Amino acid sequence: MARADAPTPMMEQYHRLKAEAGDALLFYRMGDFFELFFEDAKAAAACLDIALTKRGESGGEPVPMCGVPVHSAESYLARLIRAGHRVAIAEQTESPAEARRARGSKALVERAIVRLVTPGTLTEETLLDSGAANWLAAIARAGDDWGIAAADISTGRFELVACGPGDLQAELARLSPAEIIAEGQVPGVRCVAGKGGFDSLSGERALKSRFAVQTLDGFGELSRAELAAAGGLLAYLHATQKDATAFLAAPRRIARLQHMAIDAATRASLEITRTVDGQVAGSLLAEVDRCTTAAGRRLLAADLSAPLLDKAAIEARLALVAWLHEDGLRRGRVREALKAMPDIGRALGRLVAGRGGPRDLALLRDGLGAAAALGLELEGERERPALLERLLPRLGGHEALTEHLAAALVLAPALDASKGGYIAEGYDPDLDALRAASSDGRRAIAALEARYREATGISGLKIRHNAVLGYHVEVSARNADRLLQPDSGFTHRQTLAGVVRFNSPALHEEASRVLEAGAHALAAEAAHLEELTSLAVASAAAVADTADAIARLDVAASHAERASEGSWCAPALLEQPCLEIEGGRHPVVESALQSSGERFIANDLALGPQDRLWLITGPNMGGKSTFLRQAALIALLAQAGSFVPAARARLGLVDRLFSRVGASDNLARGRSTFMVEMVETAAILTQATRNSLVILDEIGRGTSTYDGLAIAWAVVEAMHDQVKCRTLFATHYHELTRLAGRLDALSLHHVRAREWKGDLVLLHEVADGPADRSYGIAVARLAGLPPAVVARAKSVLAKLEAGRDATGGIAAGLDDLPLFAAALAEPEHKSDPLVDALDAIDPDALSPRDALEALYRLKRLSMERDG
Ligand code: ATP
Repeated sequence: MARADAPTPMMEQYHRLKAEAGDALLFYRMGDFFELFFEDAKAAAACLDIALTKRGESGGEPVPMCGVPVHSAESYLARLIRAGHRVAIAEQTESPAEARRARGSKALVERAIVRLVTPGTLTEETLLDSGAANWLAAIARAGDDWGIAAADISTGRFELVACGPGDLQAELARLSPAEIIAEGQVPGVRCVAGKGGFDSLSGERALKSRFAVQTLDGFGELSRAELAAAGGLLAYLHATQKDATAFLAAPRRIARLQHMAIDAATRASLEITRTVDGQVAGSLLAEVDRCTTAAGRRLLAADLSAPLLDKAAIEARLALVAWLHEDGLRRGRVREALKAMPDIGRALGRLVAGRGGPRDLALLRDGLGAAAALGLELEGERERPALLERLLPRLGGHEALTEHLAAALVLAPALDASKGGYIAEGYDPDLDALRAASSDGRRAIAALEARYREATGISGLKIRHNAVLGYHVEVSARNADRLLQPDSGFTHRQTLAGVVRFNSPALHEEASRVLEAGAHALAAEAAHLEELTSLAVASAAAVADTADAIARLDVAASHAERASEGSWCAPALLEQPCLEIEGGRHPVVESALQSSGERFIANDLALGPQDRLWLITGPNMGGKSTFLRQAALIALLAQAGSFVPAARARLGLVDRLFSRVGASDNLARGRSTFMVEMVETAAILTQATRNSLVILDEIGRGTSTYDGLAIAWAVVEAMHDQVKCRTLFATHYHELTRLAGRLDALSLHHVRAREWKGDLVLLHEVADGPADRSYGIAVARLAGLPPAVVARAKSVLAKLEAGRDATGGIAAGLDDLPLFAAALAEPEHKSDPLVDALDAIDPDALSPRDALEALYRLKRLSMERDG
């Protein structure tokens, strides 16, 4: 690097490439290293904990620099990507010799960015989590419609989703993409700028050319927003992958009505695939995962993220689980066979992207072979369920490819193709001849060594090989004199501390033969690798289909295994909106208790059209939240096609699942917790349908007692009278139990507790009726609140309760402690013209002009009211 005022050609080249790389770190190839300069070097050195050095100067300042060896670049890349960086790889596109030949002795080697490595465009095994899909999602909108195009190029999955503004977040939460791109900012979504193409015309064109079709009709009726998203996605793949083709199967359209809708807040609250602090361990996924393949694990995560709404499809999955559940030996055989199955989906992804090697081909050979064998074995089984019948043909059909690969490849090829040795003997006679010539040459060299020893009488004479001198004769310095004679026939090459090295014409000749044959053999192997790769790529769609079938089988076997470990049962799907659970358990809490030697208390639930809202009271730590969540998880597992942790379960399909926990600490998102709670509650009231399942845990606690109680009251009423869906509502507001008299589909339940010798015993049993009293102070004592404070609280409570009794309602018994007050009778309706006018407005029925007039009317009323 030289001064900025007189930039060297290399510097110019660097800056040009860096400009192209934008905010990505530029890996600039120099020989065996990728070098980074300037700010890139500082960022990378800090992130990778490697030395920051200097090179040349720019503008009078030394240029900061650091580098990573090319052969181990992948592990450094992994760390940079994980830390949130993106990396542009600038490779030498010609050899130094080619550059010299073309443009003179001082010529600079041409370089170009061959790939932009971003979190959503990875294919390397070391950069990916084997158990999770790696989605790149592009989002676009057209009017009020949103579209998502999502690709996991590590396995070729490609999805298009059309959704409204209300579902965008939920759909993104389902996919949990590694990277989201968009054209501009999207409120509430963390995304990076795409590389253009976000319009429906570009999208249409790109899809047509990508899948070589005349019309897109075969993909379903794509919305403008979906097309625009697809356009942005394909443009981004093109820009990041350069010449390599990312693996994309034909797009699968995900209709909104295909899956149980679960919004982001509900996913987080139920800890479906991750816990609230982002860990897989402790989530529902980790709890049920008994998969034996990585592809199965990825599919299981996808299944749990998107439970089905199609009764027949769910029942088909359940029937396969049952078939594997009822016969432990059969299940054992299948799981054993699956265990040996390599990740052919990801191997295929690398091969299609042009980053595959002989090892990936061997994975296909072994995996496809094992799949076919498993298929044959399963065909011998009796009473095969319908889903299995559909999977079986997908397991085979690759004989030509596997046989070819089996003949061509050695048993266990090395990961690194550059040294050759992966093509099997007997596959190509010419290659065998070259290898023979090369090993003949090596034998000749060995013979030469023996001859030289005899001729010179130096028994320690050796013929050796190294990277600098190639083949050479080596003797100890003591014996060198004889060979240094002018007529010895040896040419001196090098003198080191103890040894002297020589060349000879005969050795040179043999060595050239070895090298030449070796180089030709390597080239021949490389050509075979290319041809075998394109053979595999040509059947990519069918291979991916086999990979999917294996994953589906693995997920079913996992469910069966988990069910038999925990005495789970097959859920029954009914037509009416009910949720009846006998002996239900929370899988994660039960496991946690088990590992500390405690027993989980199973509980029953019976929601139905006549009794669809359960109001649950009881002490803190009594198990209310657990009971609520287990109901939601059981519904979710059932519709994902899994057995459920219960003795018996029957349910009508849940179209939308909502779970809200009040007053959770959500400050990290920068909104007041109460505000968040209310926004989320509002979403339920507008989005839930009669077929939804809603669990509300302590809603209304984030504000003053009055406000909170009033809100909780109104929400329960609205759920009961308007939404009318299956609802579980846990609350500390005992006052709400009065609603039972008025709302006929509401019933009261409580988690049982007992005070025994002054100690609180939590029974974790759900029983009918309201809790007899509140145990807050007992729980506080249990938690170690100082005795003096506990005593004081007791006396305050006594006064409060006396006050309540005196006024016949919830009353202010204390002047010095205005905590609880006035009876909470139904709020009296005082007429307010402004509110009445507001109530009279039906926004859906208004034209823009009517709306403006209405606004003026309201403003006038408000001014009149305020005088
Ligand atoms: P809070 O009102 O304080 O939120 P809660 O009533 O919602 O409490 P949970 O959080 O559901 O109580 O449960 C508290 C603890 O009690 C759990 O962590 C678990 O250890 C235990 N527990 C809950 N349900 C059961 C059960 N059915 N059987 C055994 N233990 C249980």
